[in-house]
Amino acid sequence: VMSKFMPVLPYATDALEPVISKETIDFHYGKHLQTYVNNLEKLIRGTALEGESIEEIVVDAPEGVVYNNAGQVMNHQLYFLQFSPTPRTNKPEGKLATLIVRDFGSFEKLQEKMNERSIGLFGAGWVWLCLNENGALEIISCPNGDNPLRHGKLPLLGFDVWEHAYYLDYQNRRADHIADLWKIINWDEIDRRVE
Ligand code: MN
Repeated sequence: VMSKFMPVLPYATDALEPVISKETIDFHYGKHLQTYVNNLEKLIRGTALEGESIEEIVVDAPEGVVYNNAGQVMNHQLYFLQFSPTPRTNKPEGKLATLIVRDFGSFEKLQEKMNERSIGLFGAGWVWLCLNENGALEIISCPNGDNPLRHGKLPLLGFDVWEHAYYLDYQNRRADHIADLWKIINWDEIDRRVE
């Protein structure tokens, strides 16, 4: 039985090639995420967190190994569900598009800023576009497995800049990987997260 924490991929494991290869999906989803999920299941068994949703656990978990694994489970759920091999549109529409123009000036400016933050993040972590406590869009860098929800911000779009996300396909070329990720974003899914 698959854990309730394991997202079902809405595409075949080779469908995101060449941006994310089947080999990377097999390791990243099949091994890395599966390990975070197994660890979390084990850590919360018999505790007050056992019946909670991943969102609740990310907010409630004690600092340290429980939060580290919970953060990574939620990060990767959002990450793997945000892609499509055939996006219907190559930029956001609706409410999100309006917010981007209001808060960044243009979609291209948002892309520039996400790229800069992704290239500039030292070591392992995530760069998130999120909706903050004032209802404004914000880009934040999260070290390691940290998730914006822990800080009262709603995560919308996340770039995983741990080397395990791109090293098999891009080696040290993080900037090239990030630039290519924009080609496979499912904006219908990101738009849904704003509602
Ligand atoms: Mn990862």
